[in-house]
Amino acid sequence: MATNGYEGGLKTIEELTTNAEQIQDEKQLFKKNVPIVTYEDLKPYIDRIANGETSDILLGEPVTGFYLSSGTSGGQPKLMPVTAEFANKWELFRGLYESSVIKHFGDINQVGKRLELMFARPEIETASGLKAASVSTSIYNECNFRTILPKLYTSPIETIFCPDPNQGLYCQLLLGLIQRDEVITVGSIFASTVLRGIKFLENHWQELCYDIKTGRLSDWITDSGCRNAASLVMKPNPEQADLIENICNCKSWEGIIRKLWPKARYICCICTGIMRQYTIELEFYCRGLPLVSDLYACSEAICGINLEPLCKPCDVSYTFLPNMAYFEFLPVENDHDESIEMKRNDEDTELVDLVNVKAGQCYELVVSTCAGLYRYKVGDVLMVSGFYNTAPQFQFVERKNVILSVDQEKTSETDLFKAVTEAKALLDPLGFILTEYTSYVDTSSAPGHYVLFWEIKGKEGKNCKELDPKIMVECCSRMEESLHYTYRIYRKRNIIAALEIRVVKQGSFEALMDYYVSKGTSLSQYKKPSCIKSEEALKILDSRVIGKYFSPKSPL
Ligand code: AMP
Repeated sequence: MATNGYEGGLKTIEELTTNAEQIQDEKQLFKKNVPIVTYEDLKPYIDRIANGETSDILLGEPVTGFYLSSGTSGGQPKLMPVTAEFANKWELFRGLYESSVIKHFGDINQVGKRLELMFARPEIETASGLKAASVSTSIYNECNFRTILPKLYTSPIETIFCPDPNQGLYCQLLLGLIQRDEVITVGSIFASTVLRGIKFLENHWQELCYDIKTGRLSDWITDSGCRNAASLVMKPNPEQADLIENICNCKSWEGIIRKLWPKARYICCICTGIMRQYTIELEFYCRGLPLVSDLYACSEAICGINLEPLCKPCDVSYTFLPNMAYFEFLPVENDHDESIEMKRNDEDTELVDLVNVKAGQCYELVVSTCAGLYRYKVGDVLMVSGFYNTAPQFQFVERKNVILSVDQEKTSETDLFKAVTEAKALLDPLGFILTEYTSYVDTSSAPGHYVLFWEIKGKEGKNCKELDPKIMVECCSRMEESLHYTYRIYRKRNIIAALEIRVVKQGSFEALMDYYVSKGTSLSQYKKPSCIKSEEALKILDSRVIGKYFSPKSPL
């Protein structure tokens, strides 16, 4: 967006947020008595359209294709109908978002390029002939995006569409390093992908430097698109290679992003929700550069924009834009710590309109869109943190359906995050960092118990094997003590057995990511599951376990 357009964009944001109620009312095309639905309710209709029936069995407008949700947070990928109007919303949204970026960081498009790690997945053709692709792949396929790509980004389109994500990643890092003096932002959609990029760099920097020095691309990059695109930019550059080599050769990689890309003004990637576990590690690598979580959206609807990109990751709120969808909210209990949660029926609960939500209250998001979703539960829980004009601002709390449960207790993503945060604090002073975790419920013996998979990294060359087993046992205890009341009661009554931590070797979570990507998840949209439900995924982690530890006593 040109600078003159940016003020227009900011003005539009002001208008939209000031007139939120009126704009929402205009969108309220459905009757209030439409029931609340989940994907399972709509799936038969969506599948029929995908199989060739006309769109009017679900919506008025013709379906032009489908978005494929990532399927990593909630199970199987879902097909979401797309209409021309719906697809245009992304374009509109990007314009508004860019205005906010220019306001805070200046017109970055005029002074440099973005090193953004991007990965498309091949489109799938449904029986009806309509195409299904992830939202990110659909954006990378747009003419407009392809037109601006060479000017604004360091990654050529061929590297984004490379069928092998590792070859694509290698080339994107290579071209980002070659153009390092131009790079103005570094990022990807989600924080975990940026970290994946850094880890890849840790393993490949010598090879990358060699390629930069000689101007020749490594032989294992066999994809012809990648080779052609790289050859247009590569020429022997021993000075640049030496500089990069010296930076990467340092014992500590603290601040490595800043050192490698000295003109970068910020790191752009979502660090909220499931991604908040990566913030500390990412802050280590970018030392002082702001981490910017830009937007909150899903395959179902675009929701909000972060209007304060410079705020700390833990304070990020997304201001909802009323022209993106019709938003309603199902109140949920903020905290179930001290009581066994009563299961409530959605039908008994009144939905709240966008402008009527209350600060401090948590809600489950329900959207109605121009693409055939009516009162659809997205599965995300959000908390109202305030208002911008009349539009509410939300902090992302958790995915609703990610829970561990042995008996009647329910442990949410947030419960788990809190307990892990308490327990991993025991590792930090000893020079170890918990880099990844996930969980599952093991019911192979009775009573069942919670299993946590932890990947741990030693600081400054320390080996994970040096970790005292007593500390790990203490981590198990600390987790149990930090879990909610119901868990602790059940554990005391031996309805739940001792919590277990299984330490897995380095790279296990990368293998997990590779598994999901091989199953069709877009690497750009990958979100590691907080709770493993697939047998195959479980096998991947279990086969890499290097230590098992149990809580020795039931929590107080
Ligand atoms: P997908 O199914 O691939 O479209 O992923 C959409 C989901 O990603 C949302 O429903 C959220 O659970 C998660 N997500 C998207 N944006 C954010 C964000 N800014 N913060 C936290 N989680 C997010």
